[in-house]
Amino acid sequence: MTPQRRAIVDCLAATRVHPTADEVFADVNSRFPMTSRATVYNTLNLLLDAHLVNIVEEAGLKRFDPNIEPHHHFICSICGMVEDIESPEKDQLTLLNVGNHVVESMQITVRGKCAACINRGIRADG
Ligand SMILES: [Zn+2]
Ligand SMILES: [Zn+2]
Repeated sequence: MTPQRRAIVDCLAATRVHPTADEVFADVNSRFPMTSRATVYNTLNLLLDAHLVNIVEEAGLKRFDPNIEPHHHFICSICGMVEDIESPEKDQLTLLNVGNHVVESMQITVRGKCAACINRGIRADG
């Protein structure tokens, strides 16, 4: 694995905000200025093919998610930040009435204002 690829993997592993490919590129390029956009995109696709990352699609943007366990997301309706939600109760699936069907997976998306946006708002108001 090249240092650039390692940096891409590290960038994803260190983040909880589900960066877009452009955001990963900006982060890696700041540390490895020789890294091309194509290297970042190709590496992300390799990670996807190897099922080491997932994609979260939100507002037409593809965001990369290093957490491949089933989990839920909080999405900020102001800045678009996507964060994992810890859900200790795995068997809440049984609360859903799906008739005679069998639920195998479920992903909840919760929308609202993130803490950073709320703080910005308070500061802006004085
Ligand atoms: Zn926000
Ligand atoms: Zn996630």
